Amino acid sequence: MSRVLIIGAGGVGGVVVHKCAQFQEVFSEIILASRTLEKCEKIKSQLTRPIQTAQVDADNTSELVSLIRKVSPDLVINVALPYQDLTIMDACLETGVPYLDTACYEPPNEAKYSHVWQWEYHDRFKDKGLMAVLGCGFDPGVTNIYIAYALKNYFDEIHFVDIMDCNAGQHGFAFATNFNPEINIREVTARGKYYENGQWLETDPLSVHKSFDFPEIGPKEMYLMYHEELESLVKHIPSLKRIRFWMTFSQEYLTHLRVLRNVGMTRIDPVSFQGVEIVPLQFLKALLPEPSSLGETYEGKTCIGCMIEGIKDGKPKNYFVYNICDHRACYKEVRANAISYTAGVPPVLGAKLMLNGTWSGAGVFNVEQLDPTPFMAEIGQYGLPWTEVFID
Ligand code: NDP
Repeated sequence: MSRVLIIGAGGVGGVVVHKCAQFQEVFSEIILASRTLEKCEKIKSQLTRPIQTAQVDADNTSELVSLIRKVSPDLVINVALPYQDLTIMDACLETGVPYLDTACYEPPNEAKYSHVWQWEYHDRFKDKGLMAVLGCGFDPGVTNIYIAYALKNYFDEIHFVDIMDCNAGQHGFAFATNFNPEINIREVTARGKYYENGQWLETDPLSVHKSFDFPEIGPKEMYLMYHEELESLVKHIPSLKRIRFWMTFSQEYLTHLRVLRNVGMTRIDPVSFQGVEIVPLQFLKALLPEPSSLGETYEGKTCIGCMIEGIKDGKPKNYFVYNICDHRACYKEVRANAISYTAGVPPVLGAKLMLNGTWSGAGVFNVEQLDPTPFMAEIGQYGLPWTEVFID
């Protein structure tokens, strides 16, 4: 029986609220707070059990502290934007409440996400006896846990990992992003980066690609990108010789993105327009469909998984573990697309494991540092079943 405060009423936040509402025995009271109260009310109206809603500017620590003191939650789940991670962690520290999120901090004026800023909070959370769990979405999140589970059960050492994220769904829009457009486009237009033999190597954006035959989907072209879980996995799994992240994109998406980039619409620096300063990417976000509105027309499947190579008892071993998710089934269940669903379900199980003490500790943790067994045992029942393949 716990009170949970969920911050952020977007695509992912909607899934988190729906899923928490399904598990009343764990989440007996739910408070949803976000910048725009109407978005909280809209999600509330979709539910069959009552929740509380509140308006909050999560960039403002003192507003957050007042809200947390007012509703006294047992845990804060942050599914606002990465820009709010530090203010929400500050508020949790001040009020003595554990913290969980799905994406690492990124400064608003620089497209450079990294765990370093949140790792700096470790001693402060430790001194207060509080737990903060970072990156408990799907990727990062489940992908990290897949790797921790493989290491615990099947490998003595993991040497090579390819994390592969395929969305083969069709939403019917000419161009839309599956999660927050600003965050998504900043991530996709950044230079690629991967880790090999003790070094970080960079590539031009989306310049390295190859085909992979995804289960239940078929062959798709996937593109090498930098993704935040690479940073924490290299730190926590020292036997890694190489780790890369790949994501599929349709040609339609890539063509739109190339044009938008060429004309300057993905810039994040302010430009002067008719006497006002605007950030082109923020303006573009205002024109694009809200990710939370993509569910209704979405069809097709996603497959996200990890291809892992290493050694067990001195012999080489290859292992693939993945989840398949269906856009239409997600919409039917929680009115969201499969991207929001895959990101929104894991924090709900992560929250449960924190609240019942299965995951415990004082300080700041990435999910691969926590016991993967209870998470893997239950994530299927929470809606994200997994399949493992042992490759000869
Ligand atoms: P959305 O843009 O759909 O939702 C973000 C929500 O946060 C919006 O409701 C927004 O309010 C609210 N918000 C933004 N700024 C503030 C603020 N200052 N104060 C209060 N609320 C605020 O994004 P998504 O739901 O797609 O993504 C949410 C998070 O999930 C992001 O951090 C994203 O990176 C992460 N994510 C993680 C994934 C994973 O697998 N690990 C995958 C996908 C996403 P308003 O509507 O008023 O703007």
